[in-house]
Amino acid sequence: HANRTNGIDKNVWVEFTQLAAAYSKVNLGQGFPDFAPPKFVQEAFCHALNEGPMMHQYTRAFGHVPLVKSLAKFFSRVIGHEIDPLEDILVTVGAYQALFSAFQALINEGDEVIIVEPFFDCYQPMVKMAGGQPVYIPLRPVSDGSVLSSGDWVLSPEELASKFTPRTKALVINTPNNPLGKVYKTEELQMIADLCIKHDVLVISDEVYEWLTYDGAKHVKIASLPGMWERTITIGSGGKTFSATGWKVGWAISSGHIIKHMKTIHQNTVYHCATPAQEAVARGFEREYEVFGTPESYFQQLPAMLHHKKNKLASLLKSVGLKPIMPEGGYFMTADFSSISMGIIVDIKDGSTVFSGKWWFITFTWFVCVQGLATIPVSAFYSPEHGKEFDKYIRFCFVKEEATLDAAAEILKKWS
Ligand code: PMP
Ligand code: GLN
Repeated sequence: HANRTNGIDKNVWVEFTQLAAAYSKVNLGQGFPDFAPPKFVQEAFCHALNEGPMMHQYTRAFGHVPLVKSLAKFFSRVIGHEIDPLEDILVTVGAYQALFSAFQALINEGDEVIIVEPFFDCYQPMVKMAGGQPVYIPLRPVSDGSVLSSGDWVLSPEELASKFTPRTKALVINTPNNPLGKVYKTEELQMIADLCIKHDVLVISDEVYEWLTYDGAKHVKIASLPGMWERTITIGSGGKTFSATGWKVGWAISSGHIIKHMKTIHQNTVYHCATPAQEAVARGFEREYEVFGTPESYFQQLPAMLHHKKNKLASLLKSVGLKPIMPEGGYFMTADFSSISMGIIVDIKDGSTVFSGKWWFITFTWFVCVQGLATIPVSAFYSPEHGKEFDKYIRFCFVKEEATLDAAAEILKKWS
């Protein structure tokens, strides 16, 4: 086998999806809605399938033309920069492939990539596969012991500044963040932008949860800050945008001089993403362009619905003695579960996993295997060096039907 696969063979999603499938009755683990996408995109998909033979054939490699046009029209208005549909956008197989293409296209052997922790787990193996060196900077809770909001988790500007070296090529941020739910404020993004401009560093900004903000938090695109368009790759996901994660339509938006290198990777790996799914996402954005800012907009309706689910899960977790960190955005809520961890003894059959041999893993496995409630350990979103400090947290996905949340409540209440 090739050396690039060394050390990255274990994967949290593969492991926990298997575990959840085998044992769990209620799945608040992997992040996906267990409800249907909105009617207008479902209809658009069906319409695409019946539109004639060409919808079943290859389309433009770098993005189906109707999709890049509708993304350019929509995001030019949001970013405040005229986006060229053919030069400045690459449509990918989910945000995953946009991330992969970005690292492959831009990172050389030995380049350093600053990653803000906690981070969506694939950033680390993707940087390594490109020959890069991940350099971690943790968000830390402001320490008064009563942290309740993801907004209390912040970067230290001095610590961040100390991570830049002459080898730093890129910095990765994720706002709204998975798993914490932090939504970066303009001042925080400006501080990051200033450092990246000073050191001539690229920013890879993973914004797959961009429409999902709660309680007045506002999503700001770092690409919209002065001097940042030229050095930012903004990554989005049709799956997260329209609650259709299985469609696997994603995109990268950046200046043409950056996108052209990502196109080279893309044309030599996957070539393009499924045509009817791209057509349906295009129609979704066309519709959203027309109703943007009105109560008709799915980008208002979805966060309103999730706001309720978030609060429901939070009260449930509090009622069983857990301490949830209220997310300002995204799909997830994390909670300190150390209060219920100790004293749980269980016979764990599968000792072979990466997560074995730790007290929190025992508790966690007890949840999934014995109680039937699947969640994800937050340490999966940290480098091995820093994971220890955060292994008392678990992540719950609340983008679920009321009945699913109620079933989770039944399980949690049993041992409260
Ligand atoms: N980035 C983050 C932060 C995610 O949580 C996910 C998972 N949805 C992705 C990227 C990948 O998105 P996609 O399903 O569009 O590949
Ligand atoms: N992004 C989703 C999550 O964080 C799913 C990722 C995956 O299944 N690979 O749960």
